[in-house]
Amino acid sequence: MTDCVFCAIVEGDVPSDTVHETDDALAFLDANPLAKGHTLVVPKAHHERLGDVPPEEAEGFYAALHEVVPAVEAAVDAPATTVAVNNGEPAGQEVPHVHAHVIPRFPDDSAGP
Ligand code: 5GP
Ligand code: ZN
Repeated sequence: MTDCVFCAIVEGDVPSDTVHETDDALAFLDANPLAKGHTLVVPKAHHERLGDVPPEEAEGFYAALHEVVPAVEAAVDAPATTVAVNNGEPAGQEVPHVHAHVIPRFPDDSAGP
């Protein structure tokens, strides 16, 4: 079994609430949400940093993000989202498998980074 929790989620060895799935990417709810509907989008293949993702996989990752962002906004009726990647440990990356946070935002909230 992998020691990467997001690989384990992709493989179905660790449970998660799936939001969206494509051939290249998986979107699931964050276990510690900053707002209702806070979603993580990950490439299915293990890469630690954004720059490690090969272009053909990056395309699939972005395509999934492009679909997930409006779907999350619609699901929780949010007028906006913060979409963020903590790219490297000093930037706050705790899980070393590329992931984008999709955080629903509302006027005057405090969910942002
Ligand atoms: P980072 O700080 O690396 O950008 O964000 C990692 C995110 O992954 C955190 O928001 C954290 O709540 C989430 N997370 C960590 N472990 C798990 C897990 O096992 N399941 C889910 N659904 N989210 C996780
Ligand atoms: Zn991984």
